[in-house]
Amino acid sequence: MQTQTEFCTDFAKGDFSSLVASFELAGFEVQQPIEGALQVCAKRTDVIIGEERLRLFISVGVHGDETAPIEMMAQLLYQLAQTPQALAVDLLITIGNIGAIAQAKRFIDVDLNRLFTPQRQQFNDTHEAARADQLMQVSQQFFAAHAHKWHLDLHTAIRASFYPTFAIVPGAHNPDFIAWLDQAGIDAAVLNPQVSVTFSSYTCQHLGAVSCTAELGRVGELGKNDLTQFVRTQAALDSLLRAGLVRTAAKAETATSPSILVFRVAQEMIKRSEAFQLSFDGSTQNFTQFAPNTVIATDGEHRYVVGPEPEYVLFPNQNVRVGLRAGLLVVRV
Ligand SMILES: [Zn+2]
Repeated sequence: MQTQTEFCTDFAKGDFSSLVASFELAGFEVQQPIEGALQVCAKRTDVIIGEERLRLFISVGVHGDETAPIEMMAQLLYQLAQTPQALAVDLLITIGNIGAIAQAKRFIDVDLNRLFTPQRQQFNDTHEAARADQLMQVSQQFFAAHAHKWHLDLHTAIRASFYPTFAIVPGAHNPDFIAWLDQAGIDAAVLNPQVSVTFSSYTCQHLGAVSCTAELGRVGELGKNDLTQFVRTQAALDSLLRAGLVRTAAKAETATSPSILVFRVAQEMIKRSEAFQLSFDGSTQNFTQFAPNTVIATDGEHRYVVGPEPEYVLFPNQNVRVGLRAGLLVVRV
C-alpha cells in the first residue's frame, strides 16, 4: 500500500488510481471526466428516494503554489479510502492547475481564477483558458439537475492576514452556510453579491451552487505545510464527507455563539492601466483597516477612495495584468 506522502504526491499530479480502485470496490460509480478530476457518486439504485445526497465539489490547486489544501484533501481522502463506504455525499474533486503545481508556480500564463467567464477574449490563447473551460464544463455536468450542491474552492493567501482563515462568499447571503463556515474554523466571511470571474462565483451565479473561495493560511511548499492550524477546517470537511449536510447542519445549530466576522465587498479595484499604484507598501496584511476618505490607489486620473465607513483591504496586488482585479475593499456587516 502507498504511504500517505506518496499518495499526496500522486494526488497533486491528478493521479487518483488508488482512490478509483478503493471506491469502485465499495460499489460507487467512479469517473475521471477530465485530467485531474475525480467524481465518486452513489449508484442510482443505492439512493433512497427523497434522500438526495449532497453534491459536494471541492477544488484545490487553482493556484499552483497554494499547496496546503492539496495536502489537506489528500490526507482526508487517503483516510476515507480505508473505509470508502463511509462516503455520504456525491463527490467531485479537481486539481486545478496541474502544470503550475508541478512548477510550484501560481500560474503558467495568467491567473486561472480570473477566467471563469465567457468574456475573456484577451486570454483565450493562454495555457489556463482551456483549463478554465474544462473545469466549468465538469462542474456544470456534476451539478446539472441537482438541488443540493456545494462548491468549496480551497486556496491559501499570498500575504499575511489579520484573519488567517477567511472565505469569499458569492451570491445571496446564506446564514446556514456562514454558520457552517464558522463551525469549520473560518475567521471571517466576505459576502460578495456582485458577479465576478472567479471559480466560486461561476458555480454560484451560473450553476446555483452554494459556494465560496476559502483562504487557508499562506502559500507553502507541497509536503511541508503545517496543517495543525487548520484542524477545525479539516474536521468539518471530514464530517461533510462522512455525514453529508443534514447531520452537519444539526450539529451547527447546537454550537456555541458564532465567532466568525462577516464583511461585505464595498469596492473592487481594477487595474485600468500600467499607471495603477497602491498607496501602501507590499507588506500590508489582508484586512488592514483604512479610515474613511483615505486614497487607497491611483490609476492615472482615477482614484480609489475609502467611503464613509472604515474599509479593509483584501488581495492588494498591483502586479496583475491590466484589466484584472488589483484588490478588494470590504466593510463590516
Ligand atoms: Zn489562490
